Amino acid sequence: MVTISEALRIIDEQKINLKSQTLPLGESLGYALSKDTLSPFHVPEFDNSAMDGYALCGLYQEYRLVGEVAAGESKEVRLSDGEAVRIFTGAKVPHATSAVMMQEKTSVESGTLFLDEMPRIGQNIRKRGGQLSEGQLVFGKGHVLAPPSLSLMGSLGLEHLEVFSKPRVNIITTGNELVPPGQPKAEGQIYESNSYAIAGVLQQFGFQHQHKMQIKDDLEATKKGIKNALESCDVLLVSGGISVGDYDFVRPALEANGVDELFYKVLQKPGKPLYFGRRTNQFVFALPGNPASSLTCFYMYVLPLLQKFSGYGKVGLPTYQFPLSHAYENNFGRPSFLKAHVFNGKVEILDGQGSSMIQSMALGNALAFVDDGIQLKEGDMVDCKLIS
Ligand code: AMP
Ligand code: MG
Repeated sequence: MVTISEALRIIDEQKINLKSQTLPLGESLGYALSKDTLSPFHVPEFDNSAMDGYALCGLYQEYRLVGEVAAGESKEVRLSDGEAVRIFTGAKVPHATSAVMMQEKTSVESGTLFLDEMPRIGQNIRKRGGQLSEGQLVFGKGHVLAPPSLSLMGSLGLEHLEVFSKPRVNIITTGNELVPPGQPKAEGQIYESNSYAIAGVLQQFGFQHQHKMQIKDDLEATKKGIKNALESCDVLLVSGGISVGDYDFVRPALEANGVDELFYKVLQKPGKPLYFGRRTNQFVFALPGNPASSLTCFYMYVLPLLQKFSGYGKVGLPTYQFPLSHAYENNFGRPSFLKAHVFNGKVEILDGQGSSMIQSMALGNALAFVDDGIQLKEGDMVDCKLIS
């Protein structure tokens, strides 16, 4: 048995051979850059107008209006002292421009431009290199591409990006009692639901699973299922069969397949019977079968490993602190990740903390961490991870 921080440290310490690939810009959302990106030119490349208005030469309140420059135009406009041109947002400002005045503060009468106020030098001009200089570091290796990053890479004209590949994931569910939704079930059987949560949470964080397999609680079948699954994945997620029951065959079956155990059992609630193992550059998590345990273990342990395997510079869900909306005491006897709801800047710990109870997790949006034996008052700060 390891503590939560030991389990996280073991995951963090894994050395992984990362692979790189080239992806079109439009398909790189959620990937991490596999090399530093330097700006190929100054951004912006030329001084341009931040407003629709008038480019002014000299600082006056009256100008001779001598022409117009639209965005995307390349013709050189020459301005002399006391002259102005009509200009539009993003258009290159003429060489001798002192300032741009927004059109709302101007009026024009028979070829003369009048300003409502005195302009200031440099006003409303976006300077060449104001955002980035040529050769400057834009993003370091490991930067994860969110929508603003895609926008910036696009503005640099980069059509393809070098990114780290993401791991291929397979899912195995175990349990004689499990029947797929939509099929008839006999007395004592239940519907299989974990694989939907696991596939969903993979998708939520930008990962995909390739194959999903269901195997019976039988040592040989489990060995064979794991052998097959490991043929085509980097990360294998097994649900159930990892506890101490007579029908829990996952641990010996992993061992028989040459997977080395890195930890088994974490001092936590839910999700105590969590297993993590490795075979060369492949990783296996055996998640406890109880639905809430399995998902909690995903958020806490599987997600950081998948992100590390994808070359992310930072991994795991960030922790935020919120004040409790009520008093709470953790008397579960273990450090606990509690199903919780963050709302209006406060956190409520929900009823229904059992490992099998998924409705409370579904209605909440966070996991709140409360250490064993801790008594909290209303307003005490609690560490929370937002899960939706
Ligand atoms: P296990 O870890 O295999 O002992 O399973 C613990 C509990 O979780 C049992 O009540 C199982 O029936 C339930 N369970 C295991 N796997 C699943 C699954 N894929 N979907 C829904 N419930 C499951
Ligand atoms: Mg089972």
